Amino acid sequence: MSKLRFRVVETAFKKKAVEVPTPAERPSEYFGKYVFNKEKMFKYLPSKVYEKLTDVIDNGAPLDRGIANEVAAGMKKWAIEMGATHYTHWFHPLTEGTAEKHDAFVEHDGKGGMMEEFSGKLLVQQEPDASSFPNGGIRNTFEARGYSAWDPSSPAFIVDDTLCIPTVFIAYTGESLDYKAPLLKSLRAVDKAAVEVCHYFNTDVKKVYSYLGWEQEYFLVDEGLYAARPDLLLTGRTLMGHESSKNQQLEDHYFGAIPTRVASFMKELEIEALKLGIPCKTRHNEVAPNQFELAPIYEECNLAVDHNMLMMALMRKIARNHGFRVLLHEKPFKGVNGSGKHNNWSLGTDTGILLHAPGKTPEDNLRFVTFVVNTLMAVYRHNGLLKASIMSATNAHRLGANEAPPAIISSFLGKQLTQVLDHLEETTTDELINFSGKQGMKMDIPQIPELLIDNTDRNRTSPFAFTGNRFEFRAVGSEANCASAMIALNTAVAEQLRQFKQEVDSLIEKGEPKISAILEILRKYIKECKPIRFDGNGYSDEWKEEAKRRGLDCETSCPVIFDNYLKDSSVKMFESTGVMTRKELEARNEVKLETYTKKIQIEARVLGDLAMNHIVPVAIKYQSELIDNAYKMKDLFPAGEASKLSSENLKIIKEIAERTIFIKEHVDAMIEARKVANKIENEREKAIAYHDNIAPMLEEIRYHIDKLELIVDNQLWTLPKYRELLFIR
Ligand code: ADP
Ligand code: MG
Repeated sequence: MSKLRFRVVETAFKKKAVEVPTPAERPSEYFGKYVFNKEKMFKYLPSKVYEKLTDVIDNGAPLDRGIANEVAAGMKKWAIEMGATHYTHWFHPLTEGTAEKHDAFVEHDGKGGMMEEFSGKLLVQQEPDASSFPNGGIRNTFEARGYSAWDPSSPAFIVDDTLCIPTVFIAYTGESLDYKAPLLKSLRAVDKAAVEVCHYFNTDVKKVYSYLGWEQEYFLVDEGLYAARPDLLLTGRTLMGHESSKNQQLEDHYFGAIPTRVASFMKELEIEALKLGIPCKTRHNEVAPNQFELAPIYEECNLAVDHNMLMMALMRKIARNHGFRVLLHEKPFKGVNGSGKHNNWSLGTDTGILLHAPGKTPEDNLRFVTFVVNTLMAVYRHNGLLKASIMSATNAHRLGANEAPPAIISSFLGKQLTQVLDHLEETTTDELINFSGKQGMKMDIPQIPELLIDNTDRNRTSPFAFTGNRFEFRAVGSEANCASAMIALNTAVAEQLRQFKQEVDSLIEKGEPKISAILEILRKYIKECKPIRFDGNGYSDEWKEEAKRRGLDCETSCPVIFDNYLKDSSVKMFESTGVMTRKELEARNEVKLETYTKKIQIEARVLGDLAMNHIVPVAIKYQSELIDNAYKMKDLFPAGEASKLSSENLKIIKEIAERTIFIKEHVDAMIEARKVANKIENEREKAIAYHDNIAPMLEEIRYHIDKLELIVDNQLWTLPKYRELLFIR
């Protein structure tokens, strides 16, 4: 046993950084090399087809199936020139990954040979035999078909030898079975609603984009050490392990020099990502040892989501070239920071970001305030749902722990923006608006022009913070598909903007001037959504009390939080915006609950196995050595002296006995609790049983294992310890 332990540690030490050759070209030259982007479309498609396709991509024009054959032919030509032999419809099922089934381009040519074939029909639609993806019962009927359909708004790309075509995945009966279909619907909903509101200020606006800039946190662990930790291998996190004496207390890792082996991993990752059109920009060490962050430049939301999924896959692959494994789990190690994925979100038009201030004109500033206040209202109305959108068995370890946003959604605005809203709320229309100037009005909010020029007061504890020209949704989990959070947020904002428009229009119809109608409704909203605004310390216990008084959702149980999806207000929001039906929401919740249960179930099994075949035997072996020693002491020394000299050993012998008994008993009790929970048919009840009865046992058992780790002979301990996992790089 000990041999294995030391062999893996030794090889980890010996590993050298792999040299990553720098390509001869500059990033600007290889950026997008593997992407069928506009430049390639222009080259490989007839000009009429190119025009039609770019109209679909840029303006959301309906896709004319008539061009599919020509697009497919162009794509195939490009892909084959790039060395691709296969193609796949690439989609995001309701797991935390992507799915692909590769088909070769080959077809019989009818003359006994083969030819490369890829028709428009195959590009536009396929029916993968994908009946085993989670679907929440939608496909349990006799008609279990699912279709993948081409999403032209995200460009096709090549990975290794395969042309990947981004697609949505839907049931025969029309329900979405993936993340992308509702995401696209939510983007359309927010576009439509926001364009109408923009028209109050500028009638030229034709399209509003939702932008996403994600920041991905992750850990790297040496591959050899990882292989010797079955818990990491099977659950993505360590289910046991005593804190290392040195952790992150010196705060010496954050923004520190990047270790050589890690730097060469990052370098290769960035080169490959840039070739796939992912605009990588920032990299740095994070707070915890062996924790890092990567962020690209923000992009249109659908593309950014695809790029994040692609990036996670790329990280897993490239880490292995450098003798690392990447951990994307939200909480791989107890006692040090977990990993999140900040989702920087904003809305913008061709001419700029709508959440950006100061504007050039007073109308720009009013538009800015309009979008900020409506976003706040949306987050206020649906704070429980937004929490549900980022909640999972894995992210539950992070939310509410001391380094992460708390399990309560609130919004930080900073001093200046707060002042603007307070000012707006307190003043009367007459004070605010001077009717003068060309357009006949001028807004007088003196704070706005200086706003955000120096908006540096940040609040790291806020789950939804305004940071200059965007909101930063920080509660998203590192492993999650960003789409879940983006669907909820964009839909909530879409619903809110529609409501705003209705209310403003009805005042205008009654004869109120446009600007004063807008101000009146904004003032009403500022008052109403005040409970969501919180600039204090989100980690404090006082905030939990205060948030409860304010009526914000303070639930911490993951399965109960999922109930938010089926609340009347949520169903109404999703249905009225055309994003999801009640049936789809119910199905999705079923999937979420099932996934939750399975994750805890797997963890409980892995912990039980490790406890019984790694921890307890090793502890008893060491205990036997101590017992042996105590007997030998008796032979060697007179009785009184021997018992005195052995007294410390006897204490350890007793401690090992007590702790191993506790572990054995609780592993048995956990098995019994699982048996009881597994008999529950209702998925919600079952998940609650796993949450309430089984998850806490994992912690209790772990406590005693971690104590044993401290007293058992290090040479006998089979599992790499935190001090090795976190510091060898
Ligand atoms: P920090 O860690 O200080 O929050 P980073 O520079 O690491 O900042 O990441 C900020 C992210 O926000 C980047 O992905 C950036 O492109 C993105 N971002 C900047 N402006 C916007 C915006 N208007 N909308 C969406 N994302 C944005
Ligand atoms: Mg950030």
